[in-house]
Amino acid sequence: MLLGVIADDFTGATDIAGMLAQSGMRVTIRTDLRHPPTADSDAVVIALKSRTNPPQQAVRDSLAALEWLQDHGALRYYFKYCSTFDSSPRGNIGPVAEALLQALDADFAIACPALPDNGRTVYQGHLFVGTELLSDSGMRDHPLTPMRDANLVRVLQAQSHGKVGLLSRATVSQGAAAIRAECVRLRDGQYRFAIADALDNADLFALAEACAEHPLLTGGSGLALGLPAAYAARRWFQPAVAAGPWPPADGAAAVLAGSCSQATQRQVRHWIAADRPAWRLDPLRLAAGQTGAGEALDWAAAQRQPVLIYASAPPEDVAAAQLALGPERAGQLVEACLADIARGLAAAGVRRLVVAGGETSGAVVQALGAETLRVGLAICPGVPWTQAEGRPLWLALKSGNFGADDFFSTALGGSY
Ligand code: ADP
Repeated sequence: MLLGVIADDFTGATDIAGMLAQSGMRVTIRTDLRHPPTADSDAVVIALKSRTNPPQQAVRDSLAALEWLQDHGALRYYFKYCSTFDSSPRGNIGPVAEALLQALDADFAIACPALPDNGRTVYQGHLFVGTELLSDSGMRDHPLTPMRDANLVRVLQAQSHGKVGLLSRATVSQGAAAIRAECVRLRDGQYRFAIADALDNADLFALAEACAEHPLLTGGSGLALGLPAAYAARRWFQPAVAAGPWPPADGAAAVLAGSCSQATQRQVRHWIAADRPAWRLDPLRLAAGQTGAGEALDWAAAQRQPVLIYASAPPEDVAAAQLALGPERAGQLVEACLADIARGLAAAGVRRLVVAGGETSGAVVQALGAETLRVGLAICPGVPWTQAEGRPLWLALKSGNFGADDFFSTALGGSY
């Protein structure tokens, strides 16, 4: 194993795994650390569900993942978080990145969330989602990690003990040598992190080439695009022919959506507008015991085509549920119910499952007990099909804000 990746949620894990696979790395995703990795992986991505945990627990889980990767021979490490820098004021990006640096006996890392292919760019340390500042985008209403400051130097500084600086576009656009020199200057100036500006994939490739030898990289999946080429140039690995797009298995399919992100809300509306079967979960009714997984499963069993079961709701409904139940309980009720439904669907023979939402995907994959996921090519940027190793079960784990309006039916290949 060359590269060990620690991802703070499950959709982030499949996102970066897909990026690496696309450039010829053989990648597997692990969702638990009980067994050694399969022998034929250039990169192993550990999928954690640590983004919204208390910082101490996120640090503990991330250090355990690092130790496992070190024990199995990884040479370089990558801490993967969301391209919208999803975090709370307390963390967990800063605390986890600092703990990883310390454990690796390193003193500096770049922080590069940019993913231009999905409209996430960073300029002067400010994150844009399409044409909007992060703080004006739908991320300001995220149920668990609302992002109300687009200045990432300030956001990361608030979560970190060490100093946070900026690796500006003026430097990045000059290429790898200039980036290397600036990293040395920042490190000598006692900076622990630098937010890396990046406006396009050329910036990401330059950053990957300049920083490929850093013990720890931190970022979204975009920075990983250029890593296989940087590693191949150093003869650290031999790119394999990328596997073809994974033909989804025949058989029953379903979509589970626990994301309230705008893209997922549009995808849910698109599905319903096309008159496809859809079942809505309401956290207030779940809390009152008025409905549950059993009812949704009975309904799904009566359908003769792929179903959508969703809790996705607009900000005013989310706010009402959170006011009544608290954000954590509202989220957990939905996650637990969708996890039960996933188990029931798999038991009933569903073979292809599209899941929308990072936390949601974590809950679902853990409930399904899928320990190792094999990674295919992308359905859209950032979302590959994966297969639960040794099982006839295909999973597409979609980060809430990814994908076009027709993503759900595209993922299922219109095969119904
Ligand atoms: P994303 O990828 O968009 O961030 P996540 O699954 O990570 O999506 O997070 C969405 C969170 O919102 C989950 O914890 C989910 O259970 C919760 N949630 C979903 N629907 C509702 C709702 N109607 N009210 C309150 N919380 C909800």
